[in-house]
Amino acid sequence: MPDLSVLTRAEAVERRRLLDVRTVHLDLDLTRGREVFGSTTVIRFGCTTPGAGTHLDVKPSRLHRVVLNGRELDVDALRAGRLPLTGLAADNELTVEAEMAYSHTGEGMHRFTDPADGEDYVYTQSFLDDGPRVFASFDQPDLKARYTVSVTAPQEWTVVGNSAGRQVAPGRWEFAPTPAISSYLVAVVAGPLHSVHAEHDGIPLGLHCRRSLAAHLDADAAELLEVTRQGFDHYHRIFRRRFAFDSYDQCFVPEFNLGAMENPGCVTLRDDYVFRSAVTDTQREHRALVVVHEMAHMWFGDLVTMTWWDDLWLNESFAEYMAHAVTAAATRFTGAWTAFAADGKTWGYDADQRPSTHPVAPVTVDDTAQALQNFDGISYAKGAAALRQLVAWLGEDAFLAGVNDHFDAHAFGNATLDDLLRALTAASGRDVHGWADRWLRTTGVDTLRVADGRIAHTSADGVLRPHRLTVGHYRRTAEGALELADRVPLDLPADGTGAPAGAAELTLPNDTDLGFVKVRLDPGSWQTVRSSLGAVPEELARAVLWASARDQVLDGELAPGEYLRLVAAHLPGETSVHLVDAALSFARTFVTDCAVPPAERPAALALLAEVCRTLLRRTKGGADGTGLRLVAVRGVIGTAADPAQAAELRDWLAAGTVPGGPVLDPDLRWQLLLRLCVLGAAGEPEIAAELAAHPSDTSEEGAARCRAALPDPAAKEAAWQALFHGELSNYLAASTASGLWQPEQTELLDGLTVRYFEELGPAAARRGPALARVLTRAGFPAFAATERTVRAAEACLADPALTEATRRGLVDQLDTLRRAVRARALAGK
Ligand SMILES: [Zn+2]
Repeated sequence: MPDLSVLTRAEAVERRRLLDVRTVHLDLDLTRGREVFGSTTVIRFGCTTPGAGTHLDVKPSRLHRVVLNGRELDVDALRAGRLPLTGLAADNELTVEAEMAYSHTGEGMHRFTDPADGEDYVYTQSFLDDGPRVFASFDQPDLKARYTVSVTAPQEWTVVGNSAGRQVAPGRWEFAPTPAISSYLVAVVAGPLHSVHAEHDGIPLGLHCRRSLAAHLDADAAELLEVTRQGFDHYHRIFRRRFAFDSYDQCFVPEFNLGAMENPGCVTLRDDYVFRSAVTDTQREHRALVVVHEMAHMWFGDLVTMTWWDDLWLNESFAEYMAHAVTAAATRFTGAWTAFAADGKTWGYDADQRPSTHPVAPVTVDDTAQALQNFDGISYAKGAAALRQLVAWLGEDAFLAGVNDHFDAHAFGNATLDDLLRALTAASGRDVHGWADRWLRTTGVDTLRVADGRIAHTSADGVLRPHRLTVGHYRRTAEGALELADRVPLDLPADGTGAPAGAAELTLPNDTDLGFVKVRLDPGSWQTVRSSLGAVPEELARAVLWASARDQVLDGELAPGEYLRLVAAHLPGETSVHLVDAALSFARTFVTDCAVPPAERPAALALLAEVCRTLLRRTKGGADGTGLRLVAVRGVIGTAADPAQAAELRDWLAAGTVPGGPVLDPDLRWQLLLRLCVLGAAGEPEIAAELAAHPSDTSEEGAARCRAALPDPAAKEAAWQALFHGELSNYLAASTASGLWQPEQTELLDGLTVRYFEELGPAAARRGPALARVLTRAGFPAFAATERTVRAAEACLADPALTEATRRGLVDQLDTLRRAVRARALAGK
């Protein structure tokens, strides 16, 4: 049973008042077998009130010994991850010797055995309250300390930590003391790593991955290092303070739950980012955004850290805003803001319209369990979009001046939203507090509507926000194309009075996507979009229009069939891989699998298949260079439905290539096999053969997905048992879950849909928050968009025993489910 103890904000405030943590010596022993590791911590700290008491955070499998100022403490006093400390002195030394358990859920010290070669790897994820699963600490962001780490590891291993380290004896690694950092940022990565070393501007750079991925990392190292160098150069141009740590290692680690984690000097990234198969340019761009995002954290988050988790947004919104701004300005991925419009922001829009939404900057977050649930599309995407509005309003120079003052005032310490607002106000002379009240303390998306020659905005919750945007007016050319006639600035005050819209063939508010708003066009302009969306000359403006169509479907204002007609009319000629990828993905998943009534689903699949085949014909020879052909191939595979299409896929698999390319790499082979399994056109012999031919973790995941997808009751039951009653790792659980539910198998899955709501709660409680997320995301029967499923989900939510992570996951899925049910009703009219 995972330890679900949580630290409250009140406890953190009191402990911060009492303690001043100075240094931590951490010694880890990774040579104690595959189940546990040794962890010895020596903490030196001051106490403002001698004689007072507090508690230590430690979540061991066995607590051996705790010594406070020479006095041995009773280790049996440990309860729910807390050991009481009493009778503190003005200066204290605390030694904790413990044995810790490795995890397989990506929380604490994760251990992974590579199926490709049997080698073992470990890495830490100390984020939020998982640090005490690795080492004893006063675990809260504002008790920073200088960490000196040493590690004993198997002799053939490499060990990477926050600061520069070296092997002082075979298997013995020592790291330089870090500057003051928060406990949640302490990191160690170890195993027989493959490493690439470089240097830039005096900063030692390292890239590390599993040995079996060596060739793939080597192939990508030049691009990764180039983005890293460009990121450092840009940050050093706009920030007064240099990078504050002594080295910059980027470790690509297996079965990582997030995109990446910003441990200073030792960033961990999911190793799917070491590409093993062909990828699109949007995937490369996404990886660059992650790299640049984590670099921003070296300043926002690591140098200056939020005081408590209610300012999580300070970390994530800033890093996400900077990631897009810097990637667009400094790297070859100049379309990063289009990626934000087409994909990244939809995460924020969706999150902000659900019952679970919260302000970007919540007034208070009571405890760490609540904080974990705020790690979402609001803190990342909406927060970044809000900051983009702030920069549009203040101007970039004033914004950066305020931010730099903020760094200077709080370097190596902690700060709050209020500290930042004060710095921005001083630098800009504007009332940033008033802006923040409107944008950061409220919830909900405003809707911009063009009607009767005016643009006005409304909000769902009655609190209007000010907007600084542009409006594009497009006209027809003599040849019938569309061109931009003019673009005008638009300042919408928060009083809702609106502004003149101007007249044009197409009037598009927010055409440069500076805003975080939903856009509803006037009827004439929407008519132009229906006939000519693909002819709108700018990629970003088309992204805004596709996003508008998307949220009209989700709001029940545009029938799913209408969205599919836009896809059929305008994607075959689309040149932007961003837009094709995003629109096809929404059309394939939400629209076709959930929102279209089952009777109309075959026609929807056929329509998408035809669009993808047109793209395939258009990209013959693969000359587009952005991966559009790859998107088309994936689309053809994912929409195959009838026996003839299945036979064609079998031919591709046998030939090892798509006619005219590309050659099938592992990703495509598993996608193909998955689709054949769903359709009953392949089974266990093919799965076993593929797994044997290419043993690797991605093959294990592909096989788990395929087996769960077979239209066979025994296969479904086996997947079910593994998922709800087994001990699958986080990644194998996600793979199994994503294979399980297939709209083609509605009858077969009927009983399991009922069982899902009965067994979810206990299974998620048993496995902890990371697995709760898997079970409520990929594991949720989203395709079963009926009133019956809605009622079952509502009944499940009434169970008071649900954990916080399960409840949040279910609330969000139920919202999407209701939207799908509403869309189906609209389609039926
Ligand atoms: Zn981040």
